[in-house]
Amino acid sequence: MKYNWPDIAVWRGMREMPWNRPFMMKVYLYIVDGLLIDTGPSTLARESSDFFNSHPIQQVALTHIHEDHAGMAAYLQEKIKVPFYLHDESIAEALVEPQLSAYRLNFWGRRPAFKAQPMPDVIKCSRYSFQVIDTPGHHPHHKAFLESEQGWLFSGDLLVTIKPRSVFSGENMSAMISSLEKLDKMDFDTVFCSHTGPRNNGRQVLKEKLDYLLGLKDKVQSLRKQGWHDEEIDRYLFPESSPLDNITEGDFSSLNIVSTL
Ligand SMILES: [Zn+2]
Repeated sequence: MKYNWPDIAVWRGMREMPWNRPFMMKVYLYIVDGLLIDTGPSTLARESSDFFNSHPIQQVALTHIHEDHAGMAAYLQEKIKVPFYLHDESIAEALVEPQLSAYRLNFWGRRPAFKAQPMPDVIKCSRYSFQVIDTPGHHPHHKAFLESEQGWLFSGDLLVTIKPRSVFSGENMSAMISSLEKLDKMDFDTVFCSHTGPRNNGRQVLKEKLDYLLGLKDKVQSLRKQGWHDEEIDRYLFPESSPLDNITEGDFSSLNIVSTL
């Protein structure tokens, strides 16, 4: 696929659930001016290693520690001696390989232990400079990278779905709202999402997600004030369950949205 940014190398991988064929996820990786943003999952190692080999990498920055972003960090660390930056609060966790559930291992694969360095406030490359922004919500220790002169925002897993109906158990939608409000005041137009790729109308799309979540928060809080329990609110707002709920053995649910608003 051709993109309009000659200085940004974009890689796209695809993972289809072997036992649930229509269910498919994409992964996008970016190398900008020697900076690799996220490393992708180990189940796509064969495909992504060509990308890593064909571009010079001087630094690696991880938006967060999930295995689809950090799964190849240990492998890359063996091959290239460069700094791997990660949120300070995730550095100890990175030193140990987690015990992932079966569906995560099947889909994304292992996240072997690796050694990371504290994330700086600004990542300097030769031509560009990235402001590092704390953006909890999808994960409590999530970072986004902003090149304000170019108007680029590398958003990790902040965007992914504009109107989520089911989210991962560790996600916090109130924190997500605060992160999106913070970004809404910043200077960018193109968003580089880890699962949906580059979006020219990124600013507008992030705003749409913010408005959707604010609308939901209003509904949830007014029903709660009337004495409704979160489970009842969940059944009312999301009467149909998402296919993700079953595939992920309950790790994803709409109740995770309601209970964190
Ligand atoms: Zn994630």
